[in-house]
Amino acid sequence: MILFRILCLAFLCNFAFASSAVSQQVALTIDDLPSHGALPPGMTRADVAKSILKTLQDAHAPKVYGFINAKKLEEHPEDMEVLKLWRSAGFPLGNHTYAHLSLNASSADDFDQNVARDEPTLNKLDVVMEGPTVAAVTVRVAALLVTLPPVT
Ligand SMILES: [Zn+2]
Repeated sequence: MILFRILCLAFLCNFAFASSAVSQQVALTIDDLPSHGALPPGMTRADVAKSILKTLQDAHAPKVYGFINAKKLEEHPEDMEVLKLWRSAGFPLGNHTYAHLSLNASSADDFDQNVARDEPTLNKLDVVMEGPTVAAVTVRVAALLVTLPPVT
């Protein structure tokens, strides 16, 4: 019984010290800019973006990354305003692949090419990144994992 109590105490101490020693961070991101889903009646994409940005600013949110799929601008070039509003608000933009490819349906090379194809739009918006953006890294890592043989 004493051994059980010692083990329980050791477990609780380990849990308490471990949880106080580890700081956690949360990143807020908005994916699929400049558009996702149907528009509410009577609103434009810019209206939606302004509402999101105002809400984030009113809540004193830290910089929130907007991750873009530039292919959406082919059909709706006017939605570039959404991305400009994002930058004007002081929030960064990142690469979410050009066409939002499915990892399950694409090769690693397809992903790399799709990430690269998103970059010119980011460059037009004066998005300065050192190295690949977070989403691009995530996509590349995920694509590499897809190409690895399964662990047995
Ligand atoms: Zn997405």
